[in-house]
Amino acid sequence: MIDLHELINNPSREALATWLAEEDQTKVEQLWEAAGRCKSETIGDSVWLRGIIELSNICERDCLYCGIRCSNRKVDRYDLTETQVLAAADFAWKERYGSLVIQSGERTGTDFVKRITKLVRTIKHQTNNTLGITLSCGAQPLETYREWYQAGAHRYLLRIESSNPNLFAKLHPSDGRHGYTTRLQALKNLKKIGYQTGTGVMIGLPGQSVFDLADDLLFFKELDIDMVGMGPYLEHKDTPLFALRDQLIPQDKRLILTLKMISLLRLIMKDINIAATTALQAIDPLGRERAVLAGANIIMPNMTVPQFRPNYQIYNNKPGINEDAELSKSKLERNLAEMGIKIAWDEWGDSLHHQKRT
Ligand code: SAH
Repeated sequence: MIDLHELINNPSREALATWLAEEDQTKVEQLWEAAGRCKSETIGDSVWLRGIIELSNICERDCLYCGIRCSNRKVDRYDLTETQVLAAADFAWKERYGSLVIQSGERTGTDFVKRITKLVRTIKHQTNNTLGITLSCGAQPLETYREWYQAGAHRYLLRIESSNPNLFAKLHPSDGRHGYTTRLQALKNLKKIGYQTGTGVMIGLPGQSVFDLADDLLFFKELDIDMVGMGPYLEHKDTPLFALRDQLIPQDKRLILTLKMISLLRLIMKDINIAATTALQAIDPLGRERAVLAGANIIMPNMTVPQFRPNYQIYNNKPGINEDAELSKSKLERNLAEMGIKIAWDEWGDSLHHQKRT
């Protein structure tokens, strides 16, 4: 057995970075196992599901890594109709997912804000308040977040992308609207309003060191975050960051690095919700299930109608492009069953950390 006590009690930047750089396979597997055990003891063995609806790929932002950035003219832009969103919500409800996530490109303007408010209200009403709702619609003003919270959304995901302001600046245009401080302030506002607040980073970015990643873990702890969704950075050929692809570590190593990040985070923040993200599945068909064994406890099966899935490619080779919600569900269920992972049906799966914090 490896001794992780020191790391858990006193997670130093050096110790975290050393683990992230660890190449001894036996030790790495022991780390994954320890984190899996820690999760089972703290929040149980099962995973919670949140069906994800990719509402729209229309985006006002121009993030240098993202396939749906506004400058990418090759993307066919779409916006789901209210009927399509409500049908997806109905699917999540009937299939007993317990929760859903509405994610979209980032937009400002009253129409967009009111539309989300109405959707949240209608979904809550349509499901007798039984379906949990997470939003992931970018950095928004405090009043917008408050309006959506009052409408019934109770969780929000906003990745900081990198907690290193210098690296963040290299990934985003320097136009003032994409600022690090804006995003950080948005996270603080979400917490203040009462949301279960989630953030996350991309792993294996060009120019990112194990010390940056160790700092990301300490950032989550410092911010006392309730949920984390982090995944490997994946290239998209129609983005400026694609030019730096020679600097990247291979994708299989990015997967291993992500699993290590998940395990270390589980050990230092035992009771938070950690997502096994879709980007892991892009590298390994069982990537999400491996993440669950290494300490993650949330999976977000895709419910977007197949017609629009090819247009929400934030990175190339996004999995499930040709599937509908039914198929995405049955494949996931089969994989989880094969790996002995249970699903907690019909539960909101709120962050235990948030319950204790408030
Ligand atoms: N507009 C929302 C949702 C963005 S998409 C927001 O700003 O929060 C959700 C996440 O996908 C992003 O936060 C980013 O971390 C991730 N993402 C975008 N492009 C990616 C890429 N090329 N590789 C891996 N993850 C990517």
